[in-house]
Amino acid sequence: LKDDRNDMTPVRWFRLNPIRCGAKSEDILQELSKKFPTRVNSWTNIAPGCIYHDEYIPGLFGVHPADKITSHELYKTGKVIIQDRASCFPAHILNASSEDLIIDACAAPGNKTTHVAAHIFQDQAVESVRIHAFEKDPERAKTLRTMINTAGCTKGIEVHVGDFTQLAKPGKFPDVTGFILDPSCSGSGIFGRKMIDDRNKSKADGASPVEEEEKEEEREDISDKDLKNRLEKLASFQFEIVKHAMSFPSAKKLVYSTCSVHAEENERIVVDLLLDSKVKEWGWRVRKRAGVIPTWSRRGFYKEFEEVFRDEDTAKELAEACIRVAPKEDGGIGFFAVCFERD
Ligand code: SAM
Repeated sequence: LKDDRNDMTPVRWFRLNPIRCGAKSEDILQELSKKFPTRVNSWTNIAPGCIYHDEYIPGLFGVHPADKITSHELYKTGKVIIQDRASCFPAHILNASSEDLIIDACAAPGNKTTHVAAHIFQDQAVESVRIHAFEKDPERAKTLRTMINTAGCTKGIEVHVGDFTQLAKPGKFPDVTGFILDPSCSGSGIFGRKMIDDRNKSKADGASPVEEEEKEEEREDISDKDLKNRLEKLASFQFEIVKHAMSFPSAKKLVYSTCSVHAEENERIVVDLLLDSKVKEWGWRVRKRAGVIPTWSRRGFYKEFEEVFRDEDTAKELAEACIRVAPKEDGGIGFFAVCFERD
């Protein structure tokens, strides 16, 4: 029953949404165990009818892609949300609480925004705005609003349609404590086409259209030169947008992520930020491995830091602070995440 089609994700990941589940998480776990009677202890053993309780992200489960969770009531009512495991890392690392005010600078379709909301509101009533979600593309902003609605956190998230670097000035958000920064990237860690089987049906009946779709454009085969140019442009945008977020004086934590496998969009952005005089002046540093899912073994590329910092211990510490997820081999999309922080 192993799925060897190249375009399929090896695992369908979904997370419990405490905002919709309320105090009934236990009942939902029971429902899940009826649908998936066999619990396996590794995602590599998943077959139809099996469920894996993820060891890194609380409330995240993996099932076989042939088991259509999208036709299940729990999915349609937003009690569970389909989201790739790696894509759950940023909100988990940010670990926002009800004390926080978070900006998600590049929010649509809203997987990470609603995951942050799950951390902030948990199973409590959502009564005040604790998240500002920016999205520059008006069409994608509509999907974002639909997802927020499905996830049950409309009152807790204010959507701003426009360019984050233009709309969001530090003076306007003097109390922001943290950022999710998941900007447009090459998408080189995404493989195949995501299953979007009942999206239209879901939209029509007002239920969840929540299917992971981070890819903004079709990927095509491009020459090395074109790729180099494209990565350069993307990296410059990624650097600028993170730097803009770092200029907010009250912010203390920022999780940067991409679904790219290229160092240009990942470790090299970290290096450029650490070398930037303003970023230094503002006091930002990289949070060490101990605070960034330490048990996840695949970490950043040492070489990228060693080339710049020369000092072996610093390079090692920085590489260890970063998370890398290999496409397919690690059970889903390729991904990169790092957390910046300051006192
Ligand atoms: N974080 C999202 C999630 O988990 O569902 C995926 C984000 S996607 C990788 C990047 C998004 O950022 C796109 O929807 C894109 O339109 C938006 N974007 C790009 N540049 C932006 C900017 N300057 N301001 C606001 N949004 C931007």
